[in-house]
This record gives sequence, structure tokens and C-alpha cells, in this order.
Amino acid sequence: MTPETNPDAQETRTGRSRIVYSMSMKELIIIGGGLAGSEAAWQAALRGIKVVLYEMRPKRPTEAHKTGLLGELVCSNSFRSQDILSAPGLLKKELQMADSLVMKAAEISRVPAGNALAVDRAVFSEFITTAISGNPHIRVVREEVGELPERCCIIATGPLTTDSMAGALGKLIGQGYLFFYDAIAPIVDADSIDSGKVYFASRYGKGGDDYINCPMTKEEYGAFYAALLEADKVNVKEFEDERVFEGCMPVEVMALRGRDTLRFGPMKPVGLPHPKTGLEPHAVVQLRPENNEKTAYNMVGFQTRLKWPEQKRVFRMIPGLRDADFLRFGSVHRNTFINSPLSIETDLSLKMRRDVYLAGQITGVEGYLESTAMGLIAGIHASRRMREKEPIEVPVTTAHGSLIRHITFRCKAFQPSNINFGLFPAIDCGTSGSRDKNLKKRLMVERAIQDWEAYLKRTVR
Ligand SMILES: Cc1cc2nc3c(=O)[nH]c(=O)nc-3n(C[C@H](O)[C@H](O)[C@H](O)COP(=O)(O)OP(=O)(O)OC[C@H]3O[C@@H](n4cnc5c(N)ncnc54)[C@H](O)[C@@H]3O)c2cc1C
Repeated sequence: MTPETNPDAQETRTGRSRIVYSMSMKELIIIGGGLAGSEAAWQAALRGIKVVLYEMRPKRPTEAHKTGLLGELVCSNSFRSQDILSAPGLLKKELQMADSLVMKAAEISRVPAGNALAVDRAVFSEFITTAISGNPHIRVVREEVGELPERCCIIATGPLTTDSMAGALGKLIGQGYLFFYDAIAPIVDADSIDSGKVYFASRYGKGGDDYINCPMTKEEYGAFYAALLEADKVNVKEFEDERVFEGCMPVEVMALRGRDTLRFGPMKPVGLPHPKTGLEPHAVVQLRPENNEKTAYNMVGFQTRLKWPEQKRVFRMIPGLRDADFLRFGSVHRNTFINSPLSIETDLSLKMRRDVYLAGQITGVEGYLESTAMGLIAGIHASRRMREKEPIEVPVTTAHGSLIRHITFRCKAFQPSNINFGLFPAIDCGTSGSRDKNLKKRLMVERAIQDWEAYLKRTVR
């Protein structure tokens, strides 16, 4: 029996159409087939739960997505550091230990990027789409959903959640929405980069020749800086309130903080001596490959809201980019998240409706990895509910648990966060080791892995 012919079916209206859910089949509904929704569906399927995954693309696109693929990456192609002694490295390790689909896709699609895990975005999302569509436990429905289903579900509609779904959530939690602005960086055609003006190197020699570096003299930097400050920007009113996420700050907003701020940020020259002179340039713009063929490069840290013709004019002042062809220009987007400390429990369910789970960026975490992690946890908790089992709390000592602690901890002005060791509970490393940062990190990592392993064992089915 199809859901549409099921007499027990329950209806909900979307902006344009009416969705009919099947009540008789024990299916978990997941809305949003991005990083979090795909991971949640995968985790539920691993636990033997039947899933219906609603994704509105390609029928209804968003401002940032370009394809109809599941798990599409909207901006950078990097999953950040692989170093296990870094917080993103630890979060990746935990995801891998839990058989994360997103991590499998990243491994298969990886491209050289020094110490970072970067991917070919097309191969990455195609892998996720094939894995999800081919999974016998998961049914993908290409529809927008504009209301909360009256049954167990996961909302993973992301930072670009449609107005209808945002309205439905807002009606329930009644505290209005929080948001900030995110910007994306341009991508340049490799053939248009002047190889005579740039050099290949990774910072401190870690990871071979993966990055292209565009070196600047003091004079070149001065001219570029002045042009950046006076360039014409897209006018986003609320931007003036500085509601931007620090980790994804537009390059021209960062430049306003001082003449040398960029030289300590995305244009940092340290660890990148020029191979001809052995000297560090005054400033460097780094370009990271977008794919294994190295036909396209992402301008690292150059997310921007400059108008497109201005991006051409100003970024072509960068040595090596005089004739650059921009395959994608940078742009700026609104980013929706909820006031999670007031609205969700530590199992990611809504306080007002414990059978509705939130996952991904909308929970108030920030980043690909973090959104995936919140998908994984929502998938585990919702699966347990479907089996009528009690939730098992994620240990706060783990990277996953520390993110949950951040988004559920009551504070005055809640702000989204990337994973970082500052979110973890302190650890005792004895008097001799208390000043040794590496020892502290190592102990935190060991504690996290041990506790995560135990958690996974308890929640495997
Ligand atoms: C412009 C922009 C740039 C970003 N750049 C980066 C970056 O470079 N690095 C980084 O780590 N993080 C970045 N982020 C932050 C964030 O990590 C990503 O947005 C990430 O994809 C979030 O994962 P998600 O699963 O929560 O949302 P998404 O991956 O966006 O998935 C949500 C899905 O839900 C679908 N959807 C939305 N509403 C509905 C509906 N009503 N019905 C059905 N389907 C719906 C969407 O089509 C989408 O496929 C960026 C965010 C934005 C907005």
C-alpha cells in the first residue's frame, strides 16, 4: 500500500502541496537531506529503523545549494584538521567510530589539502546520494515540508530552512528565531592562475605541495587593503549589527578591524617561506584545490559580500590572479538557528514536543562536521524512541557531548559554536602537567575516545 492510499494516513500541508504520511508503517520521518539529515537517516537505518527522508531539492532550490544531491556542501570543501590532537580531528574520529556516512563519503572523495581533510564536492555528495537512495531501509521523497508531522520526526532543514518550516517551528517554541549571516568564498579556475607568480607549499611543510600561495609585498598588500576597504558591498541591513559568525567572517569585515588583521588571519605568511628566497612574504593568499584533478581552487578564508564586479576587480589585484576566471563568486546568506538552550533537551528533542528532534546547524552548532554530529546523535535518539527505549545521555567528555552541552547550557546571549577544546570539561593532569597544553589535549582525547566507545556500545541497537 502506498502512503497515499493508506486509510490511516495523516496529512500536513506544505507551502505548495499536501504531504500524506503513512501511520501504519513504523517509519521515522526526517525532513532535510543535507549533512545532518542524511547522517541521521543512515544511523537510524543502521539500527534497523525504517526512514522516510524528505528533501525539497531539486524541486525547490535554496540560495546556496546548486544541485539536487543529498549532503551537498554549500561553501568550502574542507572538513578541517585531521590532527587527532585537535578538536575537529577528535570529532572526526568519533564520527568514524560510529560508522558515519558523511565520513565514509569524505574518505572516498578526499583531495590533497595538507593536514586538512578536503573533498571533491561532487564525488562526496554523489556517494551520499547513492548510499541513501540504495539503502533498503530509507525512502527518499522529494517534497518540501511546511508543517511538523504529528509523529516522531527529525527536523534537519539547516541554516536555509524554508519560511514555512521556520514558521511551524516558531509557532511551537514561541521564542522567535535567532540568526546570523554567513558568507562563502570564491572559486577560481586553475587554468587562469599565473603559475609564474605563485608557489606550491603547505604551511610549515605539513602535507606537501597541496596549496597554491599568492605572495604579496608590503606595497602590494597596502594597495589591496585600500581597495578592499573602499569596494562596493552587497547591502545587508542587519550586517551592520555585526551579527556575523566569527569563524566565517567576510574578509572585508575582518579588514575593518585594522590594517594588519588579515595578516594574522587568512593572509598569514608564517610557515610559508618563498622557495626561491627562503623568506616569508609580507602576506599570502592561499588557494586550496577543489577536486583531485586540481582544475579549480577555493580562496581560503576569502568569504565575502563584495558585489561580483568588485570581487573581480579587487581579487584580481592578488599576484597570480590578474586574469582569474571566477567559477563561483563569494556571497552572503542568512543562517537560521534556534535559541536551543531554551528549546531543546540534551537528547535534541524539543522541550515542547519530545517526539520532535532537531539536527544539524539549526540546533545552534556551526560547521559541516558539527552539523553532521548533531545528525548522528538525533538519529540515535530517535531510533531509540521508535523502539520505545529510554534515551542514553551522550557523555559530556566526548566531542559530541561537549557540543550538546554548549547548545543546551543556559546562558544570556546564546551563540553558535564550532567544536573546540574550550567546550570540553576540564581535565586533571597533575601538578607537573597542568601547564603542558599537549599533555592536556592528549588526556582529553583519550578520555573522549574511551567514553565515546562505551556510549556507542550501549546505543548500537
Ligand atoms: C552560505 C553558507 C555557507 C557555509 N559555509 C560553510 C563552510 O564553508 N564550512 C562549514 O563547515 N560550514 C559552512 N556552513 C555552515 C553549515 O555547516 C552548513 O550549512 C551545513 O551544510 C549544515 O548542515 P545541515 O544538514 O544542518 O543543513 P543543510 O546541509 O543545509 O541541509 C538542510 C537540507 O534541508 C533542505 N530543506 C530546507 N527546508 C526544507 C523543507 N521545508 N522541506 C524539505 N527540505 C528542506 C535543504 O534543501 C537542505 O538540503 C555554511 C552555511 C551557509 C548557509
